[in-house]
Amino acid sequence: MTPAESTGVIFNIQKFSVHDGPGIRTTVFLKGCPLKCQWCSNAESMNPGAELGILRSLCNSCEKCVDACPEGAITFDTGRGIQFDRGKCTLCGECINACPTDALTIYGRLITVEDTFNEVYRDRSFYESGGGGVTVSGGEPLRQAAFVVSLFRKCREAGIGTCLDTSGYADPDTLREVLEFTDYVLYDIKHMDTYCHQSFTGVVNDLILSNARIVAASGVQMLCRIPLVAGVNDNIENIVATARFVKTLGDRAAIELLPYHRLGVAKYQTLDRPYPGEAFTTPPTEQVESVRRIFEEHGVSCSVGG
Ligand code: SF4
Ligand code: SF4
Repeated sequence: MTPAESTGVIFNIQKFSVHDGPGIRTTVFLKGCPLKCQWCSNAESMNPGAELGILRSLCNSCEKCVDACPEGAITFDTGRGIQFDRGKCTLCGECINACPTDALTIYGRLITVEDTFNEVYRDRSFYESGGGGVTVSGGEPLRQAAFVVSLFRKCREAGIGTCLDTSGYADPDTLREVLEFTDYVLYDIKHMDTYCHQSFTGVVNDLILSNARIVAASGVQMLCRIPLVAGVNDNIENIVATARFVKTLGDRAAIELLPYHRLGVAKYQTLDRPYPGEAFTTPPTEQVESVRRIFEEHGVSCSVGG
């Protein structure tokens, strides 16, 4: 699936979101991410293209999908249940139509800017109080920057606020272009030590930190979000280094802590992928509060998100 400029590949549109920027928002989740964060809870966001998933708890082993598949991409194994040869799958959807229990689904669909805007516009009355609007998230939305710019431009024209939720790992000129149509930025800062950053996310942090300065210099309001993972980035050295860095982004930059959770495990199972965050634990409430206080003591406004 190769999207044209006026289309994007998304895997969800979430209505009435209250965790993705100010007010009540519609969040559009775009597929594809250049990072491989081991704690990622959106397994279906990682690959840029659509992919087939199975909710094995719903499967009754009827094998109707095996018979329906024109590509011979599905087999049944007595011990392991339904098996996919994903290389053969053309995402035709025949197995989904044949399945009597709705156990099968395709994560990802091509959608036009126009159709996305219409979905967002439908809930415009809810955005009015609290500065709500549309948020693009992912995955990494800057990978589909042309789609985001077109969507944000239309939202702006309609008086709908725009929010970019980004890892910051993107070409700086692409970021600048999107910022022109952005009212608010949610910006992930995962680790200040570049080697730790690389070992947990697959990429070094230089570009992310320099792009954070671009966002700060643009004047667009930003909230730095930290996925707080026990034993990974909650040590005092990293927290102090993060506080000092965020301080350099200006008076308006603030932090939101997002304590690690395991809610995404089931998504990995539907895609037959091992969960990479098995070793991680949620930081205890006292540790989250202690981290929050350290940020406040360094003069950075800090809240705890969900
Ligand atoms: S989507 Fe089509 S090709 Fe892919 S497994 Fe299902 S029936 Fe086969
Ligand atoms: S058709 Fe649905 S319920 Fe039947 S084996 Fe396939 S996935 Fe399972």
